[in-house]
Amino acid sequence: MEWYQKTTEEVKKHFSIGEQGRSQAEVDKLREQVGWNRLNEEKAAPIWKVFLSQFADLLVIILLVAATISFVSGNIESTIVIFVVILMNAILGTVQHKKAEKSLQSLKSMSSPTARVIRGGKIEITTEEIVPGDIVVLEAGDIVPADARVISSHSLQVNESSLTGESLAIEKTANLLEGTLPLADRLNMVYSGSLVNYGRAEVVVTETGMQTEIGKIASMMNQTKERKTPLQISLDQFSKKLAFVVLIVCLIVFGLSLYRQMEILDAMMFAVALAVAAIPEALGSIVTIVQAMGTQKMAKQNAVIKNLKAVETLGSVSVICSDKTGTLTQNKMSVQKIYINQEMIDPSDLDLKNDLHRYLLYNCILTNDARIVDNKGIGDPTEYSLLEMSQKASLDIDLIREMMERLGELPFDSERKRMSTMYKLHGTPTILTKGAIDALLDLSTSIRTSEGIIPLTEQMREEIREENIRSSSQGLRVLGFAYREVDHGTTLTMDLEQELTFVGFVSMVDPPRPESMQAVKDAKMAGMKPIMITGDHKITATAIARQIGIYEEGDYAITGEELDGMSEEELNQKLEKISVYARVSPENKIRIVDSWQRKGHIVSMTGDGVNDAPALKKADIGIAMGITGTEVSKDAASMILMDDNFATIIKAVANGRNVYRNIKNAIQFLFSGNMAGIMVVLIASIGGMPLPFAPVHLLFMNLLTDSLPALAIGMEPATGQLLKERPRDPKEGILTKSFVSKVLVQGGLIGIATLSAFLIGQEYWPAAASTMAFYTLTMARLFHGFNCRTQESIFKVGFRSNPYSIGAFVAGTALLLVVALIPALHPLFMVRSITWAMAGIVVGLSMIPTILIQATKLLRKKN
Ligand code: ATP
Repeated sequence: MEWYQKTTEEVKKHFSIGEQGRSQAEVDKLREQVGWNRLNEEKAAPIWKVFLSQFADLLVIILLVAATISFVSGNIESTIVIFVVILMNAILGTVQHKKAEKSLQSLKSMSSPTARVIRGGKIEITTEEIVPGDIVVLEAGDIVPADARVISSHSLQVNESSLTGESLAIEKTANLLEGTLPLADRLNMVYSGSLVNYGRAEVVVTETGMQTEIGKIASMMNQTKERKTPLQISLDQFSKKLAFVVLIVCLIVFGLSLYRQMEILDAMMFAVALAVAAIPEALGSIVTIVQAMGTQKMAKQNAVIKNLKAVETLGSVSVICSDKTGTLTQNKMSVQKIYINQEMIDPSDLDLKNDLHRYLLYNCILTNDARIVDNKGIGDPTEYSLLEMSQKASLDIDLIREMMERLGELPFDSERKRMSTMYKLHGTPTILTKGAIDALLDLSTSIRTSEGIIPLTEQMREEIREENIRSSSQGLRVLGFAYREVDHGTTLTMDLEQELTFVGFVSMVDPPRPESMQAVKDAKMAGMKPIMITGDHKITATAIARQIGIYEEGDYAITGEELDGMSEEELNQKLEKISVYARVSPENKIRIVDSWQRKGHIVSMTGDGVNDAPALKKADIGIAMGITGTEVSKDAASMILMDDNFATIIKAVANGRNVYRNIKNAIQFLFSGNMAGIMVVLIASIGGMPLPFAPVHLLFMNLLTDSLPALAIGMEPATGQLLKERPRDPKEGILTKSFVSKVLVQGGLIGIATLSAFLIGQEYWPAAASTMAFYTLTMARLFHGFNCRTQESIFKVGFRSNPYSIGAFVAGTALLLVVALIPALHPLFMVRSITWAMAGIVVGLSMIPTILIQATKLLRKKN
């Protein structure tokens, strides 16, 4: 018999569990049999495969050709060095690949979904530890953690599209089903990976891990390929083009050399040297490392990136749409005032003996799913504040909740902006409703006062609305209460939420986070538009937005309804001026994102509810809340704020801009160094000079001495300057005109210095000319590392602000000294001993490009 064909009692009996769920000891024992509740992911490629894949590279092929040519020409030492270099490159590549994999894995585990399980009567948060027989509590926004049989349901609605393809939510019940049914019709079962759209339920887990329905088809879903970011893709494409151009130029140089009647082996060496000089061997690794380190840093600052692409996109964000409650405010509510019996009173004036007050208090604690445990609130802060208020009025919350049985409920839903429960009060089944006041007033036909129940006149409604506006304009959140008595045996449904008797409203304060003001200021300075999107009342929202600087005089604040009434043109016209959207629906959020995107903006949007998922997916950067966010929203987002804080978004943007800038600078550094090498080899070839570099020289530079400063540039810390710039145009690639001209000019200067060293060597010490060219180019590139750290002069930013750059310079110089000073290494690296005079020329010439570049930077600043 299948689980859906069993009664809830049979299922419980099968697992021998009661209300308290399983005990920890049982769980531990069972785990040994059934294993963890997770899907076997595709295994990461084994290390030897990663290692071998490092050889499948154009560069390695060119190097192998070089090694062969060296071998044939009797230069065995060179062959050995080249092989060592290839091996080291492969080892480095493997280590870096595994590291990046690990860091992505750790980010992934930080953002994996959780579920609430009842064990030994207590609620525990876990997913992987779930075993069959565990009781799981599901709520709107959860992702179902395992296959399970529903044992009680309050309007639970689940989206099972990942399994059945049916995109509409399906209502689930605990009822017994008969006959053999296909998966989609098993209305008393929920399946792992489905999304809970609405309602609440308790379910008993029947299958976990690979035994679940999704586990059975998991092999199909395991093909999660490593996705590359746009930057990586465009660099890949660029590398391919570069390789092609290099090959053509190499062939031309080879032909030219033969034409000059050079020995065929020498001609080949020229071509090989050129190829080695031109290919930026370390580029790929450096981009990956810098990105991985950037995401680690962001995770430490509470922004967990789920998708590497987001790091780049963050730097282009120009619109930040943010929720109010909890993100811009503290989400610590406390009740300030109460409107009851047609007057405003303080919470301390609440009197248990007063019949009317009691109706309000019962509604406050019964239509409420928050709890107080050890004086701390668990659940929705709005609801918790109502418990706190009731506690202060000496109401015994636990006692009342124990005595009363909930006969029905319509859970809170941010679209309806209200919730209802049904209890027997004074022997009569009573629907208790609380929610946004505008709708509640429309649903009410009478009002309860100290004189009893009287019809709610239009004038009274107007009075209440005025009081509401008075409270809202102080930034207070207003929540209304009403009730309705119904016949015995009535089932609570939405259409009963009418002809209510209004009782009163409470207004509560939720102070802005202290850091919100500065963060909003920073966002504006950084050329971004912060926008508040909230479910709260327009006047409350505007008051808070004004306090924190999002709303300025002359801006518009509109409601979702007003937005619905706007034509496309009107919205387009006003868009830049609208800084507050209140009472929005999820569809409104999508329209807002879409309108900004159509104007070419890169939009980030926060969200926490289950209905926010489409908007989070639509935004360029969907941001979910780590603390209050539902699992569904986290699943749809590309970034998770672990502290729910708006200020963290701004920090993440600054980090994103920094990562991109650093990568760009590192590329500038690598390309300009290569440019110099190419230039010298080309000029030597065209000018009929001897070969200035052995391939070993160029390899030594490209792989060792150049990688260090490039990495150091990648570690350059973010400066305040970054938030003074406008967001980067997402369409603008790396190879802008100014970037290319910098590479050409700076590479040209280094090339001239190197060529000068070579020519001077040719003139006075011909045997050491190539050595001098090699040392000069290496040193000049090491100095150049300081130039590429920032666009400003190094004397302005200071050497110490990035200690890695000093370390890279020292380590690079030390490596070069090792080669220069140990005679045993000379044949391997094809160098000669040099004299002090030669050393002086090398150091002098290698410093000149940097001196010129720094001088230009200083002069440009002054003008
Ligand atoms: P944000 O979108 O900025 O987080 P919010 O938290 O104010 O805004 P919602 O939680 O969707 O947005 O609340 C919208 C409205 O629903 C509130 O203004 C309030 O009137 C009502 N409301 C909020 N919480 C509850 C609740 N627990 N029970 C009943 N009504 C509620």
